[in-house]
Amino acid sequence: MIELDEVAYSYGGDALLTAMSLSLAPGSFHFLTGPSGSGKTTFLKLCYGALVPTEGQLRLFDTDIRDLNRDGIAHLRRRVGVVHQDCQFLDHLPVTENIALPLTVSGQSVAEHGGNLGELISWVGLGARAQALPPELSGGERQRVALARALIQSPDIVLADEPTGNVDWEMSQRLLRLLVELNRMGKTILIATHDLSLIRAAKAHVQARVLRISDQRLKLAGADL
Ligand code: ADP
Ligand code: MG
Repeated sequence: MIELDEVAYSYGGDALLTAMSLSLAPGSFHFLTGPSGSGKTTFLKLCYGALVPTEGQLRLFDTDIRDLNRDGIAHLRRRVGVVHQDCQFLDHLPVTENIALPLTVSGQSVAEHGGNLGELISWVGLGARAQALPPELSGGERQRVALARALIQSPDIVLADEPTGNVDWEMSQRLLRLLVELNRMGKTILIATHDLSLIRAAKAHVQARVLRISDQRLKLAGADL
């Protein structure tokens, strides 16, 4: 699904990430951890084509990112759902419309996805909040809106950047269960988090590999988390 071969990335100065090789198999579940500022968000941006490697090759769905023009990247990105770290919503639009936004923006018919939209909102447990406005939502509700929005185009891969960043333990477990359920439905999952207790808790529910960024490199973490 996503393959990296000796990928490096630099924002201009020294390399932030270097010599990263990895293959994310279909249906796999990965965590990505590392201290704040180590490059987790940058790594995810590389994985969905928002950034292009400064060195090495990155293949998304068997296509080299560098061979694609902007339209080509946009097309592939529909197959990758991203839950952004700082989920931004349009505050004057209700939850349903914020979730449907990727459809509206890419000119697809919301009516066509109508059934899907309702189901998705119930699935994340926001059926009763469908008409609420973003400023009225709790942190956990916002994260679930962000997750639903990432799923509206039925992506094959879900990348989540600190999805449990602003929520309490109970809500972080609930979000984790949703991500595990998605994985059971066949989706490939990658979650960036600095929260090692979340990773430990996940191990009871899913076979996950843990990647760690350390010394600018991507390493497979051992069982000693
Ligand atoms: P993490 O998600 O692990 O906290 P990030 O990928 O957000 O790490 O950031 C890694 C480093 O790259 C940080 O030092 C950050 O300041 C720097 N960085 C992030 N985005 C940019 C950017 N657009 N331009 C320059 N430096 C950036
Ligand atoms: Mg980050």
